[in-house]
Amino acid sequence: MELLVAKFGGSSLANAQQFRKVEAIIRADARRRFVVPSAPGKRTSDDIKVTDLLYACCNRASGGDFPTEEFELIKKRYREIIDELGLSVSLESEFDVIEEHLRTAPDADYIASRGEYLNGILLADLLGYTFVDAAEVIFFDQRGRYDDVRTNKVLSARLKTLENAVIPGFYGSDYKGRVKTFSRGGSDITGSIVARAADADLYENFTDVSGFLMADPRIVENPKVIRTITYHELRELSYMGATVLHEDAIFPVRQSGIPINIKNTNDPAAPGTMIVPAAPADEGSVITGVAGHKGFSFITIEKEMMNNELGFGRRVLQVLEDNGISFEHLPSSIDTMSVVVSEQSLAGKKQILLDELCAAVTPDHINLEDGFALIAVVGRGMKSKHGTASRIFDALAKNEINIHLIDQGSSEMNIIVGVKDSDFEQALRVIYHAFL
Ligand code: ASP
Repeated sequence: MELLVAKFGGSSLANAQQFRKVEAIIRADARRRFVVPSAPGKRTSDDIKVTDLLYACCNRASGGDFPTEEFELIKKRYREIIDELGLSVSLESEFDVIEEHLRTAPDADYIASRGEYLNGILLADLLGYTFVDAAEVIFFDQRGRYDDVRTNKVLSARLKTLENAVIPGFYGSDYKGRVKTFSRGGSDITGSIVARAADADLYENFTDVSGFLMADPRIVENPKVIRTITYHELRELSYMGATVLHEDAIFPVRQSGIPINIKNTNDPAAPGTMIVPAAPADEGSVITGVAGHKGFSFITIEKEMMNNELGFGRRVLQVLEDNGISFEHLPSSIDTMSVVVSEQSLAGKKQILLDELCAAVTPDHINLEDGFALIAVVGRGMKSKHGTASRIFDALAKNEINIHLIDQGSSEMNIIVGVKDSDFEQALRVIYHAFL
């Protein structure tokens, strides 16, 4: 029989009602044998996520002040879920252990991880599944990086002995056995790790949207859901700001070619988005999605005969590296080279950077300008179709939007345009509508 790993995000487990939905989803398909929960998320838009409350507890406790109110709120949330679901399990002794940590050794990773840990205990009890503490099966190495080899060995051996299990997301343990978390949103990574170790046929990632949208719904009205996207396209779109899945969640499943299905807990019948290793281009649309964000700076360096000057590019990039600035794009022509960097990375470093660049390459002219936005138009269908770029440029021209940068990735899977920040939203809309 096939095997599925199902991960549920915080809003999918925010209260008893949401737990019931999750239970119904799991019971509807016996292939859903391994389940990865997040901590309880927001119940309403002005609610506070349990993880945020836990970090707040830790902050206060580190300052020597016991976080009575925050800790009470956390306990209340779990107690409510237990009562409303009529569970027989009690978390009171677990609360005592956490309190003890807060009083004696408030470690942020340990405290933050308790959101998932406690939720995992509740979900396991509700489903009648075995609870597996992630600290026993997910590991980080001496440098604090995720230890893929050790984890895969221990976790797959453990899962083989179990018919079904709940493994809390977001954390594991370091080489000394201390609890360590992934970065925020890291339960997505745990789901992917479990899917790989279980050799799952599919990794289902349940959230509160019916999949990945072709554009940001705050900018484009009612964007279409992407039905199929490749890992590579997803990375391009995520890098540009489209967020549904943690960026690092792709890696473990990608290694074994396991597809990910983004699904909606509140509408489980909707097909959602399939993230796959490779796929034929979508017949319906040339582009898969469009995403972008503001806050880029362009450094433009001009020098006659630049193309003949050996090591010019290297010297420019060396200056950036020496100042701890990574570049995003590097469009160039015969006598000009532009470097696109995030405005944030330049904070407090502009003058020194310009001085060092002048010293390194003695340009005829150098200019640094803030206030640009980049938009990536992504689609595996572009490679085999002509006219994609012209559709983008035509749409922008018709709407009197000036393009300041054009960059087509060599994979021919994306075209990036740079516009002024003030044109960003409109540019994104007109590009989307040029294709749909
Ligand atoms: N609860 C953690 C967070 O809020 C991890 C997760 O939900 O994936 O970041």
